[in-house]
Amino acid sequence: MGVKEEPNKEILDPWGSSLIKDYERLFTLFGISPITDELISSFPATHRLLRRKVIIGHRDLERILSAIKEGREYAVMSGIKPSGEFHLGSKLTAEEMIFFQRLSPRATLYYCIADVEAYNDNRQPLHVSEEIALSNIMDMLALGMDPKRVYVYRQSDELRVLRLASLLSRDVTYSTIRAIYGDKPFGLYISALIQVGDILLPQLPEFGGPKPTVVPVGIDQDPHIRLTRDLAKRHEKDFGFILPSATYHRLIRDLTGREKMSKRNPMGMFTLTEDLKSIKYKIMSAYTGGRPTAREQREYGGDPDSCMIYELLRVHFEEDDSFLKDLYYRCKSGEIICGECKQVAVERVLRWIEEHRKKREKMRGLAEKLLKEHRI
Ligand code: SF4
Repeated sequence: MGVKEEPNKEILDPWGSSLIKDYERLFTLFGISPITDELISSFPATHRLLRRKVIIGHRDLERILSAIKEGREYAVMSGIKPSGEFHLGSKLTAEEMIFFQRLSPRATLYYCIADVEAYNDNRQPLHVSEEIALSNIMDMLALGMDPKRVYVYRQSDELRVLRLASLLSRDVTYSTIRAIYGDKPFGLYISALIQVGDILLPQLPEFGGPKPTVVPVGIDQDPHIRLTRDLAKRHEKDFGFILPSATYHRLIRDLTGREKMSKRNPMGMFTLTEDLKSIKYKIMSAYTGGRPTAREQREYGGDPDSCMIYELLRVHFEEDDSFLKDLYYRCKSGEIICGECKQVAVERVLRWIEEHRKKREKMRGLAEKLLKEHRI
């Protein structure tokens, strides 16, 4: 599994590139609850990421579902590092945030531009983050974010986040933070504390006080959630924090099928603003579950479960469950082979990207307004 073993402890690395092999073991190790069918059925709306078990784990999600049912307010909080254009991984987190924002009119989305993390992890200057963040917000709006119920802010600008991080750091010793994150540059430990401030920001009096908060993230971000919940509990008397809830999505493989999808390997991912020819090339070069020859594949069928083309459609670009089911069986039976299938995938992905680009261009003015709104 993508968990580093150190003497007497195991570490899940939010900045690493490993994939997870054994989710059940991870759930047991860190006390994460699985997303069950029963839980899915209690959502007021469905989403392909839930139905297809891309979102697989949670902490205290029942608290959010109760708030929705009872019409109480809650916060959706997540941050995206503005270290590049939205790629498939950021699209996934963005869609989850928007899903939770749209589940209830009482939900407010807190969108954090994680420029301090980009500075510490990617050595990216703050002014570069600002430019990229504008493009990221255009994507968020095009994906369906409701601009009337969102608080967009930069980590480096939001003094309340920085103040919270510094107050709550009182209870964090070097051995505690090392036990959670392993040996890292001090800047990343500070980024982790700032993320604690981000997650608890919606519960400050200026934002209406303590409230249920859900943080949709990839499962490799769980260390931040654990640290936040621990500190929220320790400071409950001072701030009255409600322990934040979280949902976790699986770590998605990149197009090579070998690594976690990330910007580190450009052939393994594409961005939503990338040249269409380049996207097509990457899809056509992706790892598949096909057989060595077309003859063998027609005879024995392919393996969609290990195929990145199938994964691309299942996780990111195909809403129609029956289309996917049909493709799965056509692949298994050898009725369709990889060359034809990749063409189908290219058409569907490029169509989606072109539609998305038309929408995002119309959002530029609104995105600029949201970006400036809470500027200090
Ligand atoms: Fe993947 Fe399609 Fe080939 Fe099946 S036919 S292995 S789904 S590319």
